[in-house]
Amino acid sequence: MTALPPTSTDDRIDVLRARWDAYLADGLFEQFIEFAVAVNSLAEHLNRLRLPGLVRLCEGLEGVALTRLGDEDAHPLGDQDVAIIQRQLDTLLGAVATVKPPAAVPERRGEELAPAAANEVEWIKPRTIWLVSPEGSSGMASALASQMRYFGFQVIDVNWGTPPPVEDQPLAVLFVPPPGDMQAAHFEFISAVRAASPVSQLFFLGAQSAIEPIVALMRAGIDVSIPAEEQSAMVLNRILDLVQNLEQDKHRVLVVEDSRVAGALIQRTLVQHGIDSLVIRDPGTLIESLEAYRPDLVLMDMYMPRFNGVEATRVLRQMSAYSTLPIVYVSSATDVGMQVEALRLGGDQFLTKPFNPVLLAAVVKTKIERFRETLRSTRLDGLTGLLNHTAAKSRLKALLAEAAGGQVPLTVAMIDIDHFKAINDTYGHPVGDQVIRALAWLLKGRLRSSDLIGRYGGEEFLVALPGVTPEQAGGVIDRIRHDFAALPHAHPGGTLHCTFSAGLAAYPVVDAASGLTEAADGALLQAKRLGRNRVEWTLSETRNVV
Ligand code: GH3
Ligand code: MG
Ligand code: MG
Ligand code: MG
Repeated sequence: MTALPPTSTDDRIDVLRARWDAYLADGLFEQFIEFAVAVNSLAEHLNRLRLPGLVRLCEGLEGVALTRLGDEDAHPLGDQDVAIIQRQLDTLLGAVATVKPPAAVPERRGEELAPAAANEVEWIKPRTIWLVSPEGSSGMASALASQMRYFGFQVIDVNWGTPPPVEDQPLAVLFVPPPGDMQAAHFEFISAVRAASPVSQLFFLGAQSAIEPIVALMRAGIDVSIPAEEQSAMVLNRILDLVQNLEQDKHRVLVVEDSRVAGALIQRTLVQHGIDSLVIRDPGTLIESLEAYRPDLVLMDMYMPRFNGVEATRVLRQMSAYSTLPIVYVSSATDVGMQVEALRLGGDQFLTKPFNPVLLAAVVKTKIERFRETLRSTRLDGLTGLLNHTAAKSRLKALLAEAAGGQVPLTVAMIDIDHFKAINDTYGHPVGDQVIRALAWLLKGRLRSSDLIGRYGGEEFLVALPGVTPEQAGGVIDRIRHDFAALPHAHPGGTLHCTFSAGLAAYPVVDAASGLTEAADGALLQAKRLGRNRVEWTLSETRNVV
């Protein structure tokens, strides 16, 4: 029950085979469900690896299995049905064996770090980008390459037609087109790169804004075509967004379920689909659990002691923090009138018990994706895409609660750009905006996805780094300070350089969210007084804030 989800393609295949063998041996309904879940999990994995041919085979098998799911009485299946599934399974396994899957999927890099290895946390993440450009080209390609290097990417130059090194999966491949029209050989080269690096995102820079050439690029394997008119800054922005997406937090589900067995079954399904969950058996602790766990969705049982699921939902809908949180009922209630009433009173969807695990996981994932999409617009700052002031503050509170529970350190940094008014006054507001964006991107590119980065004010940023020592955190911020000072910013007459100052404070030295930001603010003021372009600490707490 506590087993981790399988990690590699091979592991998933092993699980799939084992489940099918177990079903062939005993023929139990429960085993068949487990088999269907394993097929679904493999399909999702192959989809993440961008292997559409294999995904299709997998989905075929999934479809065949689901149409034969039925109920307990339908099992064991007859020989003919078993033979059909066996044939599909053999085809799929044969096809998987012919494809050499990539060694590692980038999105899991963070997870593989054992907590014990925190000392060696890789702050500058090894993100490789291939830049495919015509031989001897300069201008845009080299400007882009040097810009990306500033933001912490390792850029490898590749020439059109030269086979790229295969042992390394780049995060992205950027194609700068050769002069003149694209020839068949160019498309073949893109296809070859596509086949060799199934998990990378392929960008084509300088596409014509017309549907036909973009479709041709897409068919060759390009993921994103960027029109010639878009500036290289846009390309950088898109790549940084991509990094954020690949490293997004796991989905989190709070399961409110009084039955231990039902809770365990739901949790097992979620684990198999890579979804984190917490089960609470008493709806009386719902609000505390929501605050501490911050789920993206609640799976709510209907019949529970003390309150029922509809009552608990109605309470949440009255609280602004939870008025839009997706709530899905999982209940054995079969009365349609009752289900309609439950939805009218604030639920988002109704699933009946016994639940179909594949359907449950699919509903949970889609609801969470939509929810995150709408949250993005209310929580993120428009200029930089970072958390806005309010969202940053509430995330800090949550990080602090987590730190207090586990006694882990948490360092907060307030960062303010030096003499920023002078930049606006000299070069104009749009150039000032671009400097703010550049610092946001540098922070995004350098920090971990578990770190908090917020735009706290105009040219002021709030950063929080959990789980590392204050010394390590200070070192990271100081390295970013050093690199920001070296970063050239374009303006109509050339380039300019600027710096920032930072103030740091750490939990548990200071032990409340407001106390932490105030202490960091005080240190920031000190950094400004001492001449700017430096990092200062608040070493001890001067006030007792709760
Ligand atoms: P110091 O080194 O002391 O921080 O000097 P400073 O000039 O940076 O002083 P301060 O932090 O007080 O100045 C902030 C300026 O940032 C004032 C405001 O006009 C400008 N600003 C705030 N938000 C934005 C924005 O979104 N875009 C631009 N371009 N400027 C902004
Ligand atoms: Mg119940
Ligand atoms: Mg300033
Ligand atoms: Mg300021």
